Amino acid sequence: MAPTRCPGCPDGMKGPGKYLCLGCWSTLPMAARRLLNRRDSHAMARLQELYRQVTAGVPLAEIHITS
Ligand SMILES: [Zn+2]
Repeated sequence: MAPTRCPGCPDGMKGPGKYLCLGCWSTLPMAARRLLNRRDSHAMARLQELYRQVTAGVPLAEIHITS
C-alpha cells in the first residue's frame, strides 16, 4: 500500500496503517497517542474521534480521545 495524505496537515504523507504523519502524530498529547495505539474493539471509534476533531480544526496538541 502506498502512503496517503495526512488529514492533519496540508502536505504530509502518512504510511499505510498510520492515522497521521509522523510530525502530526508526535504533536498529539501522550494520553491521546497511548489510546490510539490500542487496537481493540474501540479502535475505530477512537480513530473517528481523532478525525472528527482534526476536521473541526482542533489543534493537534489539544485533541482528547475519550472512547
Ligand atoms: Zn500530518
